[in-house]
Amino acid sequence: MKTSIATVSISGELPEKLDAIAKAGFDGVEIFENDFLAFDGSPSDVGKMVRDFGLEITLFQPFRDFEGMPEPLRSRTFDRAERKFDVMQQLGTDLLLVCSNVSPVSLGGIDRAAADFHELGERAAKRGLKVGYEALAWGRHINDHRDAWEIVRRADHPNIGLILDSFHTLSKKIDINSIRSIPKDKIFIVQLADAPLIDMDLLYWSRHFRNMPGEGDLAVTAFTAAIAETGYDGYFSLEIFNDQFRGGQARPIAADGHRSLIYLGDQVRRSPNVSSLTVPAMPERAKVTGVGFVEFSADEKDAADLAGILRTLGFRKAAVHKSKKVGLYRQGDIRLIVNTEEKGFASASFAVHGTSAYAMALKVQDAKDALARAVALGAEAFSQPVGPGEVEIPAIRGVGGGLIYLIDEKSSLGRFSEIDFVPMEDGAEIAPAHLEHVDHIAQTVAYDEMLTWLLFYTSIFEAQKTPMVDIIDPAGVVRSQVVENASGTLRITLNGAENRRTLAGHFIAETFGSGVQHLAFQTHDIFATAEALRKNGFKPLQISPNYYGDVEARFGLDPELTERLKADNILYDRDEQGEYFQLYSMTFGEGFFFEIVERRQYRGYGAPNAIFRIAALKKALRPEGMPRI
Ligand code: MG
Ligand code: MG
Repeated sequence: MKTSIATVSISGELPEKLDAIAKAGFDGVEIFENDFLAFDGSPSDVGKMVRDFGLEITLFQPFRDFEGMPEPLRSRTFDRAERKFDVMQQLGTDLLLVCSNVSPVSLGGIDRAAADFHELGERAAKRGLKVGYEALAWGRHINDHRDAWEIVRRADHPNIGLILDSFHTLSKKIDINSIRSIPKDKIFIVQLADAPLIDMDLLYWSRHFRNMPGEGDLAVTAFTAAIAETGYDGYFSLEIFNDQFRGGQARPIAADGHRSLIYLGDQVRRSPNVSSLTVPAMPERAKVTGVGFVEFSADEKDAADLAGILRTLGFRKAAVHKSKKVGLYRQGDIRLIVNTEEKGFASASFAVHGTSAYAMALKVQDAKDALARAVALGAEAFSQPVGPGEVEIPAIRGVGGGLIYLIDEKSSLGRFSEIDFVPMEDGAEIAPAHLEHVDHIAQTVAYDEMLTWLLFYTSIFEAQKTPMVDIIDPAGVVRSQVVENASGTLRITLNGAENRRTLAGHFIAETFGSGVQHLAFQTHDIFATAEALRKNGFKPLQISPNYYGDVEARFGLDPELTERLKADNILYDRDEQGEYFQLYSMTFGEGFFFEIVERRQYRGYGAPNAIFRIAALKKALRPEGMPRI
């Protein structure tokens, strides 16, 4: 599988784009005619620059409104084609993309189009060039790859072939089985794009909302598998028109693109009837069986405050690290680590972000395999020196530069807390709060990083993304999307903040970047937990009394239940499966907070309650007399 990307997919001047594309690891690049218009150089300069970056030009495009033209327009289109051929020879590429005609004056007729292509093939052959024909979903007469293939077949010329583009086929729900009967040598190149399912005009959808394979909702994997089953093992080229990408940073978007293709290739390689695709081998997506620990970096003062809050939540300090200023707090299955070291990564993270949950450990079946997969998909491995005899836990960089440690039971990694820590007795009087395990980890990111992290998690770990929901913050919209596995042992909510006046945006501004904004623990009895928390002096987030009138009416709750919820500031939600109870802490540090949830078969995350939680947090954060944030 050779990887390519169209220059239109990313932002910047041409040299900047090519640099990002080459660094991301692509083999080739599609050059658009506009690239010369914006760049101060001749086609041969562009060609040389591309090759200097170690890239190959996979095709030149676009050539529009070619087939089926009446005279005298027909003769003129051939003249135009000859000029494109001149440019291609200077560029140093042999493939021209012709997209299906959208001109209102064009004439229909498969044989007429086939005759035009035969003649174009003759002209291309004289110069050693090839022409690929692509059916646009909105082409005037040809808007289906099956018709385009029939034209190519009847053109019957070795220099004329077909170009398949996942968007044009999948957006129109054209049967992908039809691809399996196309001979592989007649597929000149394959263009790939995904897109979120939005009901809108095809042309507008295509030009503004395409995204990388795996980031949207189209069946790009099945489409690619159908192509691979023909034996095709040529270039797969990303052609992504997306306003956000064009306004974003070239490097991370190119890196996302490359990751999406490698991930796609890996999925297709595993499908039953594919044997020809050459894709780097890597272990399967890692199955996450739980959250091993969450680690905070803090200074001594904040660490003492945090320890106080943890004790009100029913946590006990269970151990201290043998060689570092690191404490371990436990309750049920939950392990929280507080790191106050003045050197190393935790300290560096504290210097930038302040007190924060900068690292988490995910329990997987094989940590080494999980690391190998992550690295194969372009993730950055992390390591720092450990003391003699201490466990070196494999890690990768995640959201906001934080760490994701990978631990397993098959090696000593699962026993790191016994090996590296000395147990201790926490003398404090603490009522057990029945917290059992981490329910979810909520990370806040800038909106334009959302797709990056969705792809990161779903490509490395066995998990799915849920549809995006909008959470209305009084100061703007926050987009929220969940990455979770079927068993619920991995649940990460990603919140994308568009502006810093929203609570999520404020969090990003205050903490100098993305990170874990809240941590939710699960209990089996929220009322018993609330009672224990009260005994421990826990300070819950105060929910407006108006909420309870609303929730009682909305769900027809027993007034007695409503009173209990209100007394303990518990939020309530219900879906088709069951009920959900939520209880929040006040914020700590730069806006971090804890959540406690009880799920009674409920699958969601209480999205309808978010607006009430945000309002309560904003009220709590606002000192008297200060303006609203
Ligand atoms: Mg295309
Ligand atoms: Mg939550």
